[in-house]
Amino acid sequence: MSDGSIPLSQPDITEADIALVVETLRSGRLSIGPMVERFERMVARRAGCQHAVAVNSGTSGLHAVLLAMGIGPGDEVITTPFSFIASANCILMAGARPVFVDIEPQSLNMDPKLIEAAITPRTRAILAVETFGSPAHMSTYAEIAAKHQIPMIEDCCEALGTTERGKPCGSFGTAGVFGFYPNKQITTGEGGMIVTDDERLAQLCRSLRNQGRGESMRADQGSWLRHERLGYNYRLDELSAALGVGQMQRLDSIIERRQAVASAYIDRLLGMDQLTLPTIEPETNPSWFVFVIRLVTGWTREERDTIVQQLRDHDVGAADYFPCIHLQPHYRTAFGHAEGDFPVAESVSERTLALPFSTNLSDRDIDVVTQTLSLMLQRQDLRRG
Ligand SMILES: *Cc1c(COP(=O)(O)O)cnc(C)c1O
Repeated sequence: MSDGSIPLSQPDITEADIALVVETLRSGRLSIGPMVERFERMVARRAGCQHAVAVNSGTSGLHAVLLAMGIGPGDEVITTPFSFIASANCILMAGARPVFVDIEPQSLNMDPKLIEAAITPRTRAILAVETFGSPAHMSTYAEIAAKHQIPMIEDCCEALGTTERGKPCGSFGTAGVFGFYPNKQITTGEGGMIVTDDERLAQLCRSLRNQGRGESMRADQGSWLRHERLGYNYRLDELSAALGVGQMQRLDSIIERRQAVASAYIDRLLGMDQLTLPTIEPETNPSWFVFVIRLVTGWTREERDTIVQQLRDHDVGAADYFPCIHLQPHYRTAFGHAEGDFPVAESVSERTLALPFSTNLSDRDIDVVTQTLSLMLQRQDLRRG
């Protein structure tokens, strides 16, 4: 960037994307139109699913899926404590209770060995998250869900374009939800997409996103003001969908570029023995949501926080992805969670560190980031004696 700072993330927007948005703006059709349908078809195809329902955020998509499955008060949903807050908040929004399962320290996804012990007669779903975009264990979660005859919901907001055992993410559960916030693989500004093979579920989600109207209702039909259930305004607008169409057309080249940036980082960081680098699990194809490294065991949260701050002081974007969800003030108060509840997630979360990551990063940017980081680590090493 012109001011010399290297941001944590940046969207990849081309002149063709902009032209498509402007063309849509000129068309006069700003909501419920052809762009949303086109965007839905593109994402459905990529996820290997029959149906796609565009929504105005990943969070609204997750909320709609839980409601469409009839999940509500008194129900439990199994999920991970190491994620962005939305993957657990959607369970609270539906009135149900999140039951956290600790993570496995390599992939940073839920430990498959711990899931069955968390299942109770009240368990209504497993909500799995591809943390940092890693699809590791998705097939195993789906097998466990099937064995217990409960649906699996895939929060694949960080994982567009990834595969596990050759299967595209979005297709592992009964439903999957993508997010298109500006730091994701592709963006619509704000936006999300529900994908599923279950036609009834897709219909219900279409109704829930559109004020509870019957699924076949159109604005030009007399039944437009008939509301069959409590619904929401979770619609994605045409301008956002147009941006999504432009982005989806370039998804493969975007992922290729993200892979190249990740490889460039890994080449430069391999020698630093204070760091654990991201692992690519067997039989997975990542699409690189973020580039998160971890200080090795023995380093403290304070040391990590110091390094994040020092990187920022040197105009290098850095962040502590993710603080554990169960230790967020709201979850401590509502569910009595405390330190020690999920020791692996807590130990990992104290030592993770996200570096600047986008398709726009040059080799020179990556040099600046890794050299600055190296200096901070050496300085911290000296301090530790
Ligand atoms: C981005 C994200 C979401 C959705 O976020 P929105 O801002 O609502 O689109 C949900 N879950 C995870 C894990 C995410 O990273």
